[in-house]
Amino acid sequence: MINETNYQISLLTAMNNRLEKDESMYRMLCQTSDNAFMYYNYAEKRTVFLGNWSRFFPFTAEEYKSVSQILECVEESCQSEVYNCLMPERNSVRKATTTFKMKDKSYWIELETNVYYDEMQQPVEKILCFKDITKFKIQNDELSYMAYYDSMTGLLNRNCFISRLRAMIERAEESRNMVSVLFIDIDGFRKINDGMGMMMGDEIVQLFGQRLKGLEGEKIIISHFNSDIFCIGVYDPCGSRSVEHIIDTLKSNLAEPFNLSNGAEVTLTASIGIAEYPESSKEALELINCAEIVMFKAKHKGKNVVQYFDSPIIQEFRNNVIIERKLDKALKNQHFFMCYQPQYHTDNCKLRGVEALVRWKDEEGNIISPGTFIPLAEKNGAILPLGDWIMEESIAEFTNWYRKYGFEDVILSLNISALQFKNRNFVSHLLRVIDRYKIPTHLLELEITESVFIEDMQDIINKMNILRELGIRFSMDDFGTGFSSLSYLRNLPIDTLKIDKSFIDTLVTDEPTRTIAETIIDLSKKLGFNTIAEGVEDEVQYSLLKKIGCENIQGFYLGKPMEGKQIESMLSDMVS
Ligand code: C2E
Ligand code: CA
Ligand code: CA
Repeated sequence: MINETNYQISLLTAMNNRLEKDESMYRMLCQTSDNAFMYYNYAEKRTVFLGNWSRFFPFTAEEYKSVSQILECVEESCQSEVYNCLMPERNSVRKATTTFKMKDKSYWIELETNVYYDEMQQPVEKILCFKDITKFKIQNDELSYMAYYDSMTGLLNRNCFISRLRAMIERAEESRNMVSVLFIDIDGFRKINDGMGMMMGDEIVQLFGQRLKGLEGEKIIISHFNSDIFCIGVYDPCGSRSVEHIIDTLKSNLAEPFNLSNGAEVTLTASIGIAEYPESSKEALELINCAEIVMFKAKHKGKNVVQYFDSPIIQEFRNNVIIERKLDKALKNQHFFMCYQPQYHTDNCKLRGVEALVRWKDEEGNIISPGTFIPLAEKNGAILPLGDWIMEESIAEFTNWYRKYGFEDVILSLNISALQFKNRNFVSHLLRVIDRYKIPTHLLELEITESVFIEDMQDIINKMNILRELGIRFSMDDFGTGFSSLSYLRNLPIDTLKIDKSFIDTLVTDEPTRTIAETIIDLSKKLGFNTIAEGVEDEVQYSLLKKIGCENIQGFYLGKPMEGKQIESMLSDMVS
């Protein structure tokens, strides 16, 4: 009997020791945790606090009387939800979770409550765990911020703008209202980036973004798409939210000097394209696209221009789509032919050369201007086969004249599109054509525009050097319309500078233009380039250009683009 009792006692002692060890382990686990735990036994009405309780609540286990003390620490808007989570047994729920903010404190808590029930579904015990999730919440908020906002300006990002614009359009559809989309591009931003550095460019974008933010409202959404491009959506653009009013605000915002951290002060202008729901399109992406298209149109017209996506533009847009479709067929069906415009030496009026200009006669016999179809061919890639054809056709025709008339100093100028020049096969193709027709390379000049240098400048220069070593000349076309500056020209392997027609147009009437033209001619001579003026239409322009030292002249005054036959008779007259 005694043995039996002793045995029972030692068994109980062993079990007790074991339990104590377990309890101390669990206690340690809880106490070292950052979380706070509350254990509650329903039958005994006993509450135990474990873990980092003091971090969360200002009362101790001894001071605790009811859940209302916990609720008092919770921000009011969360209280009812937290109450339900503290007492899930009221709804016979086994597990409940919620997140809430502490009153007067900036941290966020996650609460999880687990209730254990007996076979009769009566609650026996429950355990509550309070966990600080502030860090996680901030990260999460940052992530969702990044998903919606542009980090540089704090404005909506592109994706978010599109979805808000969609919602605006839906609303406008229901209430038969209008939505305007403004596509904004800062003028000359590239020059700012190149001249002042990208950091200053970013600073301007940031400052402009901040100014735009002031326009935001319930019916105006503003987004920074990328680089210097911003987009604005306006619901019901009337009254103080009228598009004209917004444009005025935008313009004065831009004209107000931006004080940069490097001490510089700049004022800006922007090109703005505007499309409207429902007239231009009924779909958000298309609407943005339309506004972008007309922004480019505005840019083309000059600086500080606003262009609406209106009926004539819509018509032009449709025509362009038709032309683009017809381009491929025109190539196959040989609907292109070449014209040549003479270029003269200013001093003795002798022929300097001819510029090859492509022409397209469509199936109905209409002549479509290269000013219309070349940009479209550049856009859809058709310029590559077309460019190859032009090269072959004009070199063949020109070499034929060369053989017949034996001149030694008349040049063939070929316009080469940026896309064509950048193409991997350009050099090899040109060399093959040269070899086939045996044109003397010193009679060949390639006209390129500055746009070719926008990317991979060194690569382009290398290509030019290869061809120049073979004797081929290079001319910089449309000089003065791009981002050109004489200082960057200095490093380019070119022979001739072609002063753009826009300068010639106002040369006689506008004093500053004349000064610029004089300076270009003067400096380009010093840099060792030839100069040629294009688009000379009358004797006054001609004489003035001659006076200020322009070496070559091309234009309607001395000769319009003409078909090969006419050039041939000119050449035959010249040598006879
Ligand atoms: P561009 O290279 O600047 O060519 C000069 C344009 O000005 C030509 O128009 C020419 O006819 C026109 N022009 C010449 N003198 C005068 C003038 O005194 N007054 C006026 N108002 N215009 C004058 P075109 O032939 O319509 O060509 C337009 C543009 O299309 C060209 O501008 C060039 O960028 C492109 N283009 C033409 N042919 C070709 C080509 O074979 N290949 C490539 N890639 N582009 C071409
Ligand atoms: Ca040209
Ligand atoms: Ca030109």
